[in-house]
Amino acid sequence: PAKTMDELVSLCKRRGFIFQGSEIYGGMQGAYDYGPLGIELKNNLKGAWWRAMVYDRDDVEGLDAAIIQNKHVYKYSGHEDTFTDPMVDCHECKSRMRADHMKDIKKCDNCGSDNVTEPRDFNLMFKTNVGPMVNEDSYTYLRPETAQGIFTNFKNVVDSTSRALPFGIAQIGKSFRNEITPRNFIFRVREFEQMELEFFCKPGEDEQWHDTWVKLRKQWWLDQGLAEENIEFEYVTGDDLAHYSKATVDILYKFPHGFEELEGVANRTDYDLGSHTKAQDEFGLSAKVKKNEHSTTKLAVRDLEENKMVVPFCIEPSAGLDRGVLAVLTEAFTEEQLDNGSSRIVLKLKPHLAPIKVAVLPLKKNKPEIVEAAKGIKNRLQKLGLGRILYENTGNVGKGYRRHDEVGTPICITVDFDTIEQEGAPVTVRHRDTMEQEVVKTADLPSFILNYFIN
Ligand code: ATP
Repeated sequence: PAKTMDELVSLCKRRGFIFQGSEIYGGMQGAYDYGPLGIELKNNLKGAWWRAMVYDRDDVEGLDAAIIQNKHVYKYSGHEDTFTDPMVDCHECKSRMRADHMKDIKKCDNCGSDNVTEPRDFNLMFKTNVGPMVNEDSYTYLRPETAQGIFTNFKNVVDSTSRALPFGIAQIGKSFRNEITPRNFIFRVREFEQMELEFFCKPGEDEQWHDTWVKLRKQWWLDQGLAEENIEFEYVTGDDLAHYSKATVDILYKFPHGFEELEGVANRTDYDLGSHTKAQDEFGLSAKVKKNEHSTTKLAVRDLEENKMVVPFCIEPSAGLDRGVLAVLTEAFTEEQLDNGSSRIVLKLKPHLAPIKVAVLPLKKNKPEIVEAAKGIKNRLQKLGLGRILYENTGNVGKGYRRHDEVGTPICITVDFDTIEQEGAPVTVRHRDTMEQEVVKTADLPSFILNYFIN
């Protein structure tokens, strides 16, 4: 794994994974742009989550709700009142910092002065104006989590899919938080993506489902290549527990800057649906909620055994996609000493996450038959639907191998004179991790590649 954040930041920039946002204007703090390879890696991680959450299960439906929502959503979700971090101001250097991240709460982290304020609450939501008129009522917020769009669509999904408990709704999308001190590359940013599942169950079955989801989510991260010894659980207690939560288990990963939260798995009880539902008094809610004067809809389902309407409990595994990308990059980053005394950087990404699945390299740049054969192979393999297959004609196969090691391409295929001269059109298949090479006939390539990636 990577030892420092710097080596990751440098690889990401050099090879086109991740760039500082607005770089040409001096940058924008807490915003990063995904480059040609970063977008592939991010999409692959998203795809793996969606497959595990929606396709492999038969009790979860997908959703993609709008980022801007009615401001009442944030009134009743509790975000308007409580989505804050404690902030300290320094009178000397005018910097601001998050109190619970400070080395010493009485001294400025930046200049060391003790002329600092007491911590005060700072709301992390970005406020924005909606419509051409600017007045007291024309505001809303950019969503600070995707979850609320799931709760507000609960009835729509139940009615359109005839779901009964237990079942879940999954969503991936952007969230925005005006973090006081964004830091550690893409770990803490102001615009990020979340992969969230809200899993609804009967009250009383919530603790069991919470345990189940903690286990399932850890296994999923292992399946993405994270090593068991780099994952820890943290059982959140006391003041650190969110206002809606009965119990939260954070899944921590050993990032270059230490063990930090990768995903939180919370038991949100009936707080959210209970907050957003009409006729709150009918349901005997267990959570303490604000009296709702605006909702038009009952967010409840019929409990067939007891023949009454109940507001389900909800278990929420909430993962950060950008933190996930950072974790798999950290884990995959490997510097290897080779037998000939040189060294190489290789990204040992799981094949399903690799930005480029296969690179097809013609040995000779200017030999039309070799170039044609290589293009033909690229086109056939691309049709398999595995992801990006790259035809790359630089004429320097050795350099190509090095570059593809660094960006994690699991397989390179070299097309040479044998391919155009010998029977069966053999090509050389080179494996990233072992650097071993084997000869495969062109006609066998599709099944060879499918086997490699599907298993
Ligand atoms: P933290 O304590 O690190 O601020 P949190 O407990 O506020 O995180 P949650 O509200 O539980 O985070 O959000 C769920 C997930 O969303 C987190 O586990 C994380 O992966 C991701 N996430 C939250 N805030 C950020 C951020 N500012 N930048 C990147 N990812 C984030």
